[in-house]
Amino acid sequence: MTIVRPARLTVIGAGMAGSDAAWAAAQHGVAVDLFEMRPATTTPAHRTGNFAELVCSNSFGGEARSNAKGLLQAEMLAAGGLVMSAAAATRVPAGGAVAVDRERFSDFVTDTLRRHPLITVHTEEATELPSGVGVIASGPLTSDALAARLRERVGEPFLGFYDAAAPVIAGESIDHGVAYRKGRYGQAADYLNLPFSRARYERFYEALSAARRHLPHAWEELEFFEGCVPIEELARRGFDTPRFGPMKPVGLEHPVTGERFFAVAQLRQEDAAGRMWSLVGFQTGLKWGDQLEVVRLIPGLERAEIVRYGVMHRNTYLCAPRLLDATLALREHPELFIAGVLAGTEGYLESSATGWLAGTNAARRLLGLPPVVPPEASMLGALVRFLATAEAEGFQPMNANWGLVPVPAKQRRGPGKRERREQAYQQGLDAFVSWLGEMRSGAAAGLVAGTPEAPPVRQV
Ligand SMILES: Cc1cc2nc3c(=O)[nH]c(=O)nc-3n(C[C@H](O)[C@H](O)[C@H](O)COP(=O)(O)OP(=O)(O)OC[C@H]3O[C@@H](n4cnc5c(N)ncnc54)[C@H](O)[C@@H]3O)c2cc1C
Repeated sequence: MTIVRPARLTVIGAGMAGSDAAWAAAQHGVAVDLFEMRPATTTPAHRTGNFAELVCSNSFGGEARSNAKGLLQAEMLAAGGLVMSAAAATRVPAGGAVAVDRERFSDFVTDTLRRHPLITVHTEEATELPSGVGVIASGPLTSDALAARLRERVGEPFLGFYDAAAPVIAGESIDHGVAYRKGRYGQAADYLNLPFSRARYERFYEALSAARRHLPHAWEELEFFEGCVPIEELARRGFDTPRFGPMKPVGLEHPVTGERFFAVAQLRQEDAAGRMWSLVGFQTGLKWGDQLEVVRLIPGLERAEIVRYGVMHRNTYLCAPRLLDATLALREHPELFIAGVLAGTEGYLESSATGWLAGTNAARRLLGLPPVVPPEASMLGALVRFLATAEAEGFQPMNANWGLVPVPAKQRRGPGKRERREQAYQQGLDAFVSWLGEMRSGAAAGLVAGTPEAPPVRQV
């Protein structure tokens, strides 16, 4: 019997993403050094030293077949992801949502990883980037030392420390009879414009001024740059302030009638297919219910569906479209993979799913196999494609939503929204499962054949 030392992977962070990354790599037969700084060094949001600690809600979102998170959950269960397997094993009743007993859930993840013979846990803060193949999954509260190293590696402008996001609207919920395309002062007509009369603006302004804000913890408090002030703060400064700022009507007369408006809100395309549009300059920390009410007072958005709510909080994340490819590798440093919030996703589930993919691809790299990207119809495939190709200017983290995948188009007397989403769910899951099968048989063939690039593996 010859024992050859297996190639090792470094994973930084044992949160949602790092836990699934370490698990996926170990399942490929790769030895993992997993660095987690808690409990010795902690973050302002975590309370324990357990892996995959749920810092706030205990829910992974709705599991219905018409729910975008439901599709991603099903994909991760099919893939054998650790976080979703732990969620399935520790569920508590929560209507249509997958919610867990948070302690049992974290214990499950921690015990599984600590017991894995290929995973070595290091309870220490990583202050340097991995020197070989690595997955960085240190999350929204990445320690300062590591954030500094990352910033040196990727360039200062491409590592954000806060999330000042505007609501993103589903394209099919916009009233295109009201919205008109035009760029300010005759520039390229890339924007959708939503025109206000004085009366409509007054109603909107009143609601905006009365809307309730999310009250951040002290450590979440932000000092706003003048270019990034929340829309409700602009309203607080005066009736005209929003319309002299992001709602400025100048240069946006109607292209057909020539009409001038009292104020104009603008929507900018978020994805190549135009399924998602963000409200320009509307970064907001309003509570979600109030946010929806205010948005629906904008002409053309009366039936708006928000696919991603605006938030204002501390968040460490990379400008994914500038830096990452869809395999989650850094384009300039392909031995380093990024996962979770740091990669530009939002949510426990999305973080764990990108962790699984980053761990899979990092392991494949060590095994001499080509990296993989799930199919476009799947939620994970759509999410990582979005990260790699989204508009880089003002990029904000994204969650699983139906704006990412191709949902069958609305047709007169055709199936309703729920049925069309259920169709997309089935297509996405089928595509993902058959892709998994192909990947696994390909990976197995690579290992069994012992390709020349294959790294040392245990041989009997
Ligand atoms: C306060 C807050 C509340 C949130 N609430 C929710 C919610 O209710 N629902 C939801 O879906 N999402 C929520 N999120 C967003 C996000 O989904 C979670 O933060 C999620 O846990 C992110 O997964 P992650 O793996 O990227 O980061 P984390 O789960 O935070 O994991 C990162 C890990 O890396 C460790 N680490 C950091 N730096 C180092 C280092 N240098 N060396 C070693 N280890 C390090 C940390 O200790 C941590 O364990 C919240 C975020 C925050 C900040």
